[in-house]
Amino acid sequence: MIEIDGSAGEGGGQILRTSLALSMCTGQSFSLTKIRAGRAKPGLMRQHLTCVNAAKEVCGAEVSGAELSSQSLTFVPGQVRAGDYHFNVGTAGSCTLVLQTVWPALLMAHAPSRVKLGGGTHNPMAPPFHFLERSYAPLLKKLGANAELTLRRLGFYPAGGGEIEVTIWPAKDALQPFDLNDRGARVEGYAECFAPALPRSVARRELEQLGTALGWSGDQLREAPTRQHEGPGNALLATLVYDNLSEVFTEFGEKGVSSEKVARDLAHEVRAYQMSSAALGPNLADQWALPLALAVWMRQREASFTCAQLTDHAKTNFDVIERFLPVKFSTAPSEGGWSVITRPV
Ligand code: AMP
Repeated sequence: MIEIDGSAGEGGGQILRTSLALSMCTGQSFSLTKIRAGRAKPGLMRQHLTCVNAAKEVCGAEVSGAELSSQSLTFVPGQVRAGDYHFNVGTAGSCTLVLQTVWPALLMAHAPSRVKLGGGTHNPMAPPFHFLERSYAPLLKKLGANAELTLRRLGFYPAGGGEIEVTIWPAKDALQPFDLNDRGARVEGYAECFAPALPRSVARRELEQLGTALGWSGDQLREAPTRQHEGPGNALLATLVYDNLSEVFTEFGEKGVSSEKVARDLAHEVRAYQMSSAALGPNLADQWALPLALAVWMRQREASFTCAQLTDHAKTNFDVIERFLPVKFSTAPSEGGWSVITRPV
């Protein structure tokens, strides 16, 4: 039984999700204590409980402590089964995080799986659907793991109700680690504003402000089509496409936060990434670590990447991954960011 301290490092939900994902992939049991001790409301919230129950269903695990607010959990995994799954958070909690919990296990299965998810599709502090579709899934595909993602309906806090459908193909024998040290030449950059059930002026102002800050104009500034029943909600996205990867940065509008601030914060994130020459932005870097480590383990071959920032999320995730997989992450400052090497041990 691997013992994980949920208060270590960043102390958030990623410790739980990475533990669930790698427990399923490797067949190792774990116990987790002090769940999300680093957060204002510690313990399992609805979204985290949905992750636990989704993992349990995918591998027929024996689980104790799977209750709302629970601060400890034991998870004894069974065999991962491909299949048709439906996981609904039931609130506006992020369903993309539920997807990321079961994704690695399902790509290690022997047949394709279809997963329907319900909840929030665009939540603060979680990967928005478009980030998974444009940044994360294409990198997994390069690793040999194919998936098709469809957004059926947007879901924002507080109403939720978003829907995503995903097909995940088996990739266990196809996984090939690769180096990602250079983002390549820039292909295009564009912004989209999702603002269902809000006055059109909100989207226009956010896009205009962002355009002024980044020097983007015309077709680079897009009011994304939404449906009335998908809101209210507001997400401003900037997508940067390079030869070797795409990055998606997102800021959220909410009551009391001006359009100007949303645009300014997003421009700041985009500029910080543009000023670095590293391949991955801060969020993609912490999420890339797990699938890359799986491929490094499977093929017993090292791989490296560069990232603009080495966040606490990333460092904490490296530590949890090393508890489950015989791999080692080494980090070193490099020009314009950090260099990370993942080696089999
Ligand atoms: P945690 O805070 O431990 O629940 O983990 C949150 C996860 O969501 C981390 O993997 C973050 O990289 C990811 N995340 C948060 N905000 C974004 C964003 N705007 N775009 C992409 N990923 C995000």
